[in-house]
Amino acid sequence: EKIPATNFIRNIIADDIASDKWGGRVATRFPPEPNGYLHYGHAKSICLNFGLARDYNGVCHLRFDDTNPEKEEQEYVDSILDAVRWLGFDWGEHQYFASDYFAKLYTFAEYLIEQGLAYVDSLSAEEMRALRGSHVEPGENSPYRDRSVAENLDLFRRMKAGEFADGAHVLRAKIDMASPNFNLRDPVIYRIRHAEHHRTGNEWCIYPLYDYTHCVSDALEHITHSICTLEFEDHRPLYDWVLDQLQPLIGWHPQQIEFSRLNLTYVVLSKRKLIDLVEGGYVDGWDDPRMPTLVGARRRGFTAAGFRLFTDRIGVSKADSWIDMSVLEDCMREDLNIAAERRIAVLNPLKLVIDNYPEGQSEDCFAPNHPLKPELGKRAVPLSRELWIEREDFMETPSKGYFRLFPGNRVRLRYGYVVECTGCDKDADGHITAVHCTYLPDTKSGTPGSDSVKVKGNIHWVSVAHAYQAEVRLYDRLFAAANPGAGDRDYRLDLNPDSKTVISACLEPSLRDASAEDSFQFERHGYFVADRVDSQPGKPVFNRTVTLKDSWGK
Ligand code: ATP
Ligand code: MG
Ligand code: MG
Repeated sequence: EKIPATNFIRNIIADDIASDKWGGRVATRFPPEPNGYLHYGHAKSICLNFGLARDYNGVCHLRFDDTNPEKEEQEYVDSILDAVRWLGFDWGEHQYFASDYFAKLYTFAEYLIEQGLAYVDSLSAEEMRALRGSHVEPGENSPYRDRSVAENLDLFRRMKAGEFADGAHVLRAKIDMASPNFNLRDPVIYRIRHAEHHRTGNEWCIYPLYDYTHCVSDALEHITHSICTLEFEDHRPLYDWVLDQLQPLIGWHPQQIEFSRLNLTYVVLSKRKLIDLVEGGYVDGWDDPRMPTLVGARRRGFTAAGFRLFTDRIGVSKADSWIDMSVLEDCMREDLNIAAERRIAVLNPLKLVIDNYPEGQSEDCFAPNHPLKPELGKRAVPLSRELWIEREDFMETPSKGYFRLFPGNRVRLRYGYVVECTGCDKDADGHITAVHCTYLPDTKSGTPGSDSVKVKGNIHWVSVAHAYQAEVRLYDRLFAAANPGAGDRDYRLDLNPDSKTVISACLEPSLRDASAEDSFQFERHGYFVADRVDSQPGKPVFNRTVTLKDSWGK
C-alpha cells in the first residue's frame, strides 16, 4: 500500500524520529471499550493508528479499555478482535486489557493519596455536582478535601475491601476547584461498583475512571503518540497532570494528540443510536448490511482495502467536518472495480424468445472474467432459445434516444449475437409477458466478421433453462436525509423506507458456485457479495454492496 499524504500527526512523528525524542520508538494504540460493536468511525481510528505503526516501523497496541463492568462483555471483545483483523491489521503480541492494570492502578492511587494528591470524598454525586461551579463561577472545596493521609488511606482500603455500598465514597484527584478547566476540578478517579467484571469477576469492587486509567495504561505500555478524538482536548491537562505526578513510579509520558472524529452523512455513528436501531427492530441486527458497523459493512460487501483507502483519502485534521457518504462508497467502488470479477445477473426479468433459434439446443458464449485483468480468462455462459433480459431493456414504443430493444431495432446480446426485435406478447391486462426476436447467425461475438452489423444497444441476458434463481437483497442507504435528526428532529423519522428490497433474480449459472463473501460486479448493475450468513453451499444469496454510479446526486 502506498504511504498516504502527510498530515499533522505524521509531521509530529517524523520530527520526533529526527530529534530522537522517544529513543527511536513509535508506539500507538487503538483503545476500544468492549461495550458494543465497532462502527465506521472506529475504522478511521484503527486505520490511522495501525497505519502509522506500519509506515514508521513501529507497533500499534490493541487495548481494551474495560473499566465499566456493567457494560462490557466478552462477546464485544471477540467482535472487536475480528473487526481489526478483518481490516487487515495485526497487533502481534500487543493485546492488552486495562483490567490487567487494576493492581498497578490501585497502587498508584495509594501513592497519590500518600503524596497528598488524592482524597476520599463522601459527598453524594448530587452534592458534588452542586459544588462543581460553572463556566463563570469557580467550584468549591468539598468538606472532605482536607482529610488526613492516614484517614484517606484507611477509607480507600476499606472501599477496596468492600465495606461500603456503591456511591458511598469516591477517590478524587486533588487539583484545583477553581480551574477554568472542569476536568481539573478534583476529578473522580475511583468509584465503588459491586459488579462482576467480564475478566476480573468479583475481585474488585472499586473501578478506576477513564481519565485516570487511560493515561496510566498508555504510559505503562510505553506508548509514544496517544491519538484520540477532539473531545479529549480538554482532558489533556488531566492526562498530563496524572503522568507528571506518577513520573517517579512510571517514568514514561506519552504525547496525547487529538484529531477530528469521522462524521459521515446518511448514517448515525453514536453507539446509543445504533443500539436503538437494533432494539427498535429498524434493522435486522448489528450485522444488518445497512448498519454502519464493521460487521454490517463486511456483510454488505464493503472491503477492508476500501476502508483503508477511505482513511487515507479523507486524511486527518483538527477541523470538524462532515464527509459525504459518496466518498466512502466511491472508495468501495474503486477497490471492487479492481478486485471483483464480472458476472451477469438479470434483476428485473422479462422473457426474450429467439424465434429462429432451435428449441432444446444451447451453446456457450464466452465472457471475460475481468476487463482489466485478461489473465483471469473467460468463462462459458450458455445461450439458448429463451433468455431473461431486464424489463428496462425493452420498450414497445421507444422514447427518444432509446437504443435498446423495440420492435424493428437491433441490439447485441452481450458476448452473443445481434438480434432484431420482432414484437411482444401481452396478457389480458396489457402487461408485456415476453419479447420476440430473431438472431443473425453470423454475428456471434469473438467470431470473424461478428462486428459487421453495427448496433447501438448492448444488453445482458441469462438463459432461462440454465439460470440460477436466487434471492438478492438490494440495499441502499439506511437514512434518506444527509444529517439524520438534524435540529431536534427524531433521527428515526429520517430512515430511508426503501433501504432494503428483496428480489428473486435470474443469475448466470456459475454464480451458484460462489462462496460466502465472494464479491462480483454484476454487469451494468453494481457490486454484489454472497452473504456470509445466509448463503448455503450451492445456494448463495447476494447483497448489493453499492451501485455502479452514485444515484444520490450531490
Ligand atoms: P462511545 O463514546 O459511544 O462509547 P466511542 O466511539 O468513544 O463510543 P470507544 O470504544 O471508546 O468508543 O472508541 C475507541 C476509539 O475509537 C477511541 O480512540 C475513539 O477516539 C475512536 N473513535 C470512536 N469514534 C470515532 C469516530 N467517529 N471517528 C474517529 N475515531 C473514533
Ligand atoms: Mg466509549
Ligand atoms: Mg470513547
